Amino acid sequence: MLRNRIVLAFFLVIFSLCNLIASNKAAAQKALINQSKEANSYFRDNNFEKSLLLAREVLKKALQTKNNELVAASYNLIGCNYNEFSEFDKAIEYFNKSLHYAKIVANDTLQFKAFNNLGNVYCFSKKNYNKGIPFFKKAIFYCKKINNKNYQLFVSINMAWAYFENSDFEHGLPFLKYANANFVENGNESICTVFEMINGMYFNHLGNFKKASEHLQKSIKHGYIHNDLDDVSDAHNEYSKLLFKYGHYKEAYIHLKKYDDLINSIYEENKIIKASVAGLNVELDEYKRELTKFELIKEAQKQNLIKSKIIVVLFIIVFCILLILIYTLVRNNSYKRKINTELTIANNDLLIAKEKAEVASQMKSQFVSTISHELRTPLYGVIGITNMLVDEYKYLAKSPHLTSLKFSARYLLSLINDILQINKIEENRIVLEHMTFNISDEIELIIQSLSFLAQNNRNRVEIDIHSNLPEYVIGDKLRFSQIIMNIVSNALKFTKNGNVKISAVVEKKEGNICYIQFKISDTGVGIDVKDQLKIFDKFVQVGRNDTDYQGTGLGLSIVKRLLELFNSEVHLESVIGQGTTFTFTIPFESDLQKTNAIINNINVDLSTSHIFKVLIVEDNKINQMVTRKLMEKNHFKCHVVEDGFQALSVLEKETFDIILMDINMPLMNGFETTRLIRSQQIETPIVALTAFDKEEIAEEALAAGLDDIIIKPFDQSKLFKVIHSLVSNSQSVS
Ligand code: ADP
Repeated sequence: MLRNRIVLAFFLVIFSLCNLIASNKAAAQKALINQSKEANSYFRDNNFEKSLLLAREVLKKALQTKNNELVAASYNLIGCNYNEFSEFDKAIEYFNKSLHYAKIVANDTLQFKAFNNLGNVYCFSKKNYNKGIPFFKKAIFYCKKINNKNYQLFVSINMAWAYFENSDFEHGLPFLKYANANFVENGNESICTVFEMINGMYFNHLGNFKKASEHLQKSIKHGYIHNDLDDVSDAHNEYSKLLFKYGHYKEAYIHLKKYDDLINSIYEENKIIKASVAGLNVELDEYKRELTKFELIKEAQKQNLIKSKIIVVLFIIVFCILLILIYTLVRNNSYKRKINTELTIANNDLLIAKEKAEVASQMKSQFVSTISHELRTPLYGVIGITNMLVDEYKYLAKSPHLTSLKFSARYLLSLINDILQINKIEENRIVLEHMTFNISDEIELIIQSLSFLAQNNRNRVEIDIHSNLPEYVIGDKLRFSQIIMNIVSNALKFTKNGNVKISAVVEKKEGNICYIQFKISDTGVGIDVKDQLKIFDKFVQVGRNDTDYQGTGLGLSIVKRLLELFNSEVHLESVIGQGTTFTFTIPFESDLQKTNAIINNINVDLSTSHIFKVLIVEDNKINQMVTRKLMEKNHFKCHVVEDGFQALSVLEKETFDIILMDINMPLMNGFETTRLIRSQQIETPIVALTAFDKEEIAEEALAAGLDDIIIKPFDQSKLFKVIHSLVSNSQSVS
């Protein structure tokens, strides 16, 4: 009885698998689908054992390859097999699984199939029509959805059969009508047996024995022709019921016997046992799968746990690192703050120290300049008076006392000048000037001024100026002279009965710049190698002979520093007892055009026979006398005043050719006096005669209106050169 209903389901399985082939081209999948088809064939041939074994294989592979359509189809076939063994609950379980996978892949055909089979099991196996019929209705919904008239016909036949079995002919009739109306078009031979049988059942219900008998006989005949043994058995059963109802007991018995025989032949005992074993294997597989699933879940949970642990550990590590970082940052910050505070304090201390150093340096400068001034002022008197004595009392010229006096005064003066000079260099207060001069003349002058030294030590002086030297060079003449003077005077001092040679040669030329190499060599005592570096330090003297020593120990130190200002350096070669050579190269500018322009500007006419009137403004009585004597000796007409106020009042009444102005005076200093003179439109040239250092007062002197500065004690010729130049300039202007 059961088999009849399942035939439909089996057919549908085949049909749906054909669609699967179309949708899946992969060769492996094709092989699997072929296996599935084979399993269906076995089922159709009632070989449930093989059908189940094969369906199980297909299911395994389909699950592995995640082919959910094939999984759904396999579950469906397994369900069908279980239905055959009357394992209805299991059949329902597998149909439901099939339905689950069919829904996942949204395969309407497979859903239709599962619903139809569930309807079959509930209606025909469990006789639970209330539960089964809704499944059929869902099956109808899906076959309408996929617009499959064959399926709709099959389900309609099943529904009509279910209603008829439940004696609900009223509800079954519409489905029978649908079947009768569509059978010719959509039916086939496989369902013909059942189709005839349900018509027979309906006519039996109507009491039409003849018609019912005809349909049931047709059903039986068709079933045998097409070997539909399941359906034939049901047809025999229905026909037996009809015959029995109308009292044809013998025939009824025959059909009932055929029904029993057929059922027995279909369900051979051994087949069922084997199939049951196969079914058990399927079960076992399911359990295994469940177990594997469970183990997988467990493994996943384990992995998750490990991951969580790793995450926690990582989190702790990161947290620790962050803590360390924060700690380090905080420490660094506080360290920085501490260092900053210390630095700020140190900075402040440094600033204070710097300010103090600057103040000290200023005070030192002030001190040096004041002391220099204060020493120079009386020195001016000493030197001046000594000169006057020699002039006035000629027989004293050879007096050793007077010579000593002169020497001492000169020594003091050079010491003061040296100290002042080194102080200025150290404070970077020296800026090289640009004057035009003749190197050869300058060297001659120096030698002349040092002739007494040469004579004293009986030295021969040789000057060798190379012809490649330009006639005039532009540079700081005074500093250059100072360098030569210091080195040559040393050479003359430390050589006795020997030679001192001064040579100059152009080493190279770069544009306007001539690199002139100077070499001063002597045949004197020489300098020990160990002393050769030392002698350039301040106040260093070596091999000093106390009796006749002349020097401050500053000469070479000044030379070295001055040469640095010229971007040059001094080289020393010396052998004890043989002599010493100092070499250095100074870059001088030599521009012929520039030189001519400068020379033209300094055309000074010293040949005038005019008697100049000079106003001497000087507070120091001795210096008044010295200056006046000097001026008068050179035919100047002098008027001496003691301070600025007197000078102003004299100037109101008288005019002068030149004014010689002391700077450091009581009541009103030389600058102030000059300013007032200039404010009264008096243009007389004013020369400062001062013991101050020239650079120190140059700026203020210019601003006050002074024309030049001569430092006391001075070179007389220099003073007169300046006076002549200024006077002739002012006269040419007026
Ligand atoms: P000072 O002005 O006392 O001579 P310097 O700085 O000019 O000082 O010289 C330092 C020392 O170098 C001198 O005391 C002397 O011993 C040595 N010296 C310099 N020039 C010569 C030289 N040409 N021959 C020998 N010794 C020299």
